[in-house]
Amino acid sequence: MQNGEKQFIHGIFLSELEDWLVRAGEKKFRAKQIWQWLYHHEAQDWDEMKNIPKSLREQLADAFVFRALEKVEVQESNTGTRKILSRLIDGELIEEVLIPAPDRRTVCVSSQVGCMFGCAFCASGQLGVKRNLKAGEIVGEALAAQREYGDRITNLVFMGIGEPFDNYDEVMRAVRILNDPDGFCLGARRITISTCGVVPGIQRLEEEGLQVELSVSLHAPSNHVRDALMPVNVSWSLDELMETCRQYTKNTKRIITFEYTMIRDVNDTDEHCRELIGLLSTFPCRVNLIPLSEIEEYEGKTSRRETVESFIRQLERAGINTTVRWSKGVDVNAACGQLRSKSLGKSLRDS
Ligand code: SF4
Repeated sequence: MQNGEKQFIHGIFLSELEDWLVRAGEKKFRAKQIWQWLYHHEAQDWDEMKNIPKSLREQLADAFVFRALEKVEVQESNTGTRKILSRLIDGELIEEVLIPAPDRRTVCVSSQVGCMFGCAFCASGQLGVKRNLKAGEIVGEALAAQREYGDRITNLVFMGIGEPFDNYDEVMRAVRILNDPDGFCLGARRITISTCGVVPGIQRLEEEGLQVELSVSLHAPSNHVRDALMPVNVSWSLDELMETCRQYTKNTKRIITFEYTMIRDVNDTDEHCRELIGLLSTFPCRVNLIPLSEIEEYEGKTSRRETVESFIRQLERAGINTTVRWSKGVDVNAACGQLRSKSLGKSLRDS
């Protein structure tokens, strides 16, 4: 818990709530009752907690923030992908994306307001970072996704706005609450943390002993290309990143997925494909190819379909398990940060 600041109720552990109750002269078992209201009944307000005495509900309302975010706008694409723009209690905007499939209900959540990493092809990176999200706000995104789906989510990915390892402690706190069988109860293997290549974050995750999935945004097979696309490569070069990933795989026995956004003539030639195979064929891993979602702020074009198919063939031939994520939501500004940046642009124009 932090001193002085009002906590989000969805951002504290069960044990912390028990301690708070004992300090308030209440019974410890109330904590589990409260968590049931929060995560099993998905209560929207303290007043729904009928088996909690009114005086205690009032104390809780004084001590904790209940609602972390409020829905501002939902856009739905013709493929069923839905993008939710939400306002936080300090007025900042974040977005999450719902990606339904026949066998799963995935939500892609944000971990920061904006992002400092400035990848060339990303709308979020163009706006800089305003602040980190608190764990309670991240868990709030997951709950908001369930309300929007009208059902339990099956998968959660940290691939929205922000770099999760730049907000490591709050992201891991959210992961533990989401994964807690008494809490949100989402299996660790159904949670994916995606990093742009923050090496110390990968090393810390290795020590956590969590079964979460790790995905690394590679987007280039050489320092030369990566430097131009991803400023993070200046801090942690490709060689250092790949060595860290190799160690992570060896020590955790977990397979990393490498994301590779395909940009026409920038990183999608046969030579780039050969370099990529050279990088990835030395340890077990997966590749996810993502044809670029074009944005106004970046002049790059998406790769041609035949180029993407040629990459798949060459990578598979080299024994590298490869998938493609064809864009499911171009018509709802589904590239990371686009809805937020458009909304900010609109409010600036309207003011
Ligand atoms: S792609 Fe991810 S890491 Fe890069 S600027 Fe966008 S949000 Fe940040």
